[in-house]
Amino acid sequence: MSRTDPLIEGAFWQRQNEVIERTFLEAEQLHHLKETLDSVYSNVPFYKSRFEKAGLIPGDIRSLGDLRRLPFTTSDDLRAAYPFGMLAVSKEDVVRLHTSSGTTGKPKAIFFSRQDIENSSDLIARCLVMTGTGRGDILQNMMTYGMFTGALVMHYGAEKVGALVIPAGPGNSDRQISFMQDFGVTAFHITPSYALYISSLMQERGIDPGKDLSLKRAYLGAEPYTEETRRKIEYIFGIDVYNCYGLTEMNGPGVAFECMHKNGMHLWEDHFLMEIINPDTGEVLEDGEKGELVLTSLRREAMPLIRYRTRDITRIMPDNCECGRTHRRISRILGRSDDMFIARGVNIFPQQIEQVLMGIKGVAQNYQIVLESFDDITVRAEISKDLFDGNIEHLLDLQTEIADKIRAEIIVKPKVELLEPGALPVSEGKAKRVIDNRTM
Ligand code: AMP
Ligand code: ZN
Repeated sequence: MSRTDPLIEGAFWQRQNEVIERTFLEAEQLHHLKETLDSVYSNVPFYKSRFEKAGLIPGDIRSLGDLRRLPFTTSDDLRAAYPFGMLAVSKEDVVRLHTSSGTTGKPKAIFFSRQDIENSSDLIARCLVMTGTGRGDILQNMMTYGMFTGALVMHYGAEKVGALVIPAGPGNSDRQISFMQDFGVTAFHITPSYALYISSLMQERGIDPGKDLSLKRAYLGAEPYTEETRRKIEYIFGIDVYNCYGLTEMNGPGVAFECMHKNGMHLWEDHFLMEIINPDTGEVLEDGEKGELVLTSLRREAMPLIRYRTRDITRIMPDNCECGRTHRRISRILGRSDDMFIARGVNIFPQQIEQVLMGIKGVAQNYQIVLESFDDITVRAEISKDLFDGNIEHLLDLQTEIADKIRAEIIVKPKVELLEPGALPVSEGKAKRVIDNRTM
């Protein structure tokens, strides 16, 4: 192990869960899976009828592999069950409601029991300890508070490890920077797109985070981003950036998290069973193969979900992590199957374009992909003020460089528009990268 894991006082038992031998881990998973299946069969009519259709009762699921005999749960199933159809406990045992930030149709209502809140905070605490945050740290939480789980779940976990939490939420960006300066903030939690924006604002204000601030690390999640974006943010702020993955349906953030090796996110397999499937056929894929992540909650009480299709594309990393944790890792989320778009017959994820943009010097923090027809893509990218105000020939060269590099990545050559910093809308929640103006 190249760096020692911080073992913060009082958190040692957490660490033991993290290095549990796989055979014990799997026995524990099976135990909790059986409990979960019993609960949904007895309490959720939707799941009872699913079992009946498959000709099964919970007792027929005797191994982890048997889970494949049950069908998937989809976000449409959750919407159809809105508001209370998926509850597995009585309403009196629910202490919190969140909704998932779906952009279409009815929201998905996700309930938490007291124990669910406790478990979700424990998992975040585990993630924070793993990456060095604890007592003495000052964590600025710049995710949206409210119906979204991003901020609240992190908040509870960060308090649990003894950090001082600033519940800033997103927006009011100058104030965010003042908070960082005035309170000596050491860590922050933020969406990648908002982090890019804050970094450009700091540059504009002449603030050098390395000299003027006490930042050490940041937790970025809630939307897909690339390794290039991580590096850019690490470089500008002079910090370590850790990838944090989760979804409201499975507690929110802290389902999977990077350790200090930053080489994929450990998915906490004592709380969730993971599968990777071919999103078109539903076939379960081998470790290492890229596909859609499917999760079964093992300890959620209020609203357990069985084989829930996340729509997130990733792969299980088959090798062991140097840190010694036995929970398998998933790769960075490569995109959402619903974000994928097709141009000239090619399947494209916005992150493929982001990866190119963030690797080019002078290309700044914000970008947008506009689809006008099924053949053409326009990439609108903000560039640095110096470049924008500079020599026109350099601008034309940059435009060609971007278009050629994107073509090399996605086969389709886009039109490229270069914009001055601040020209594109800033997102404080999840960024909307693709503007689809196509008509069928
Ligand atoms: P929500 O329903 O608002 O909780 O959002 C959950 C979704 O946000 C996930 O299904 C992912 O698509 C996305 N997401 C969350 N964390 C990450 C991350 N670290 N990387 C990429 N996408 C993420
Ligand atoms: Zn690790």
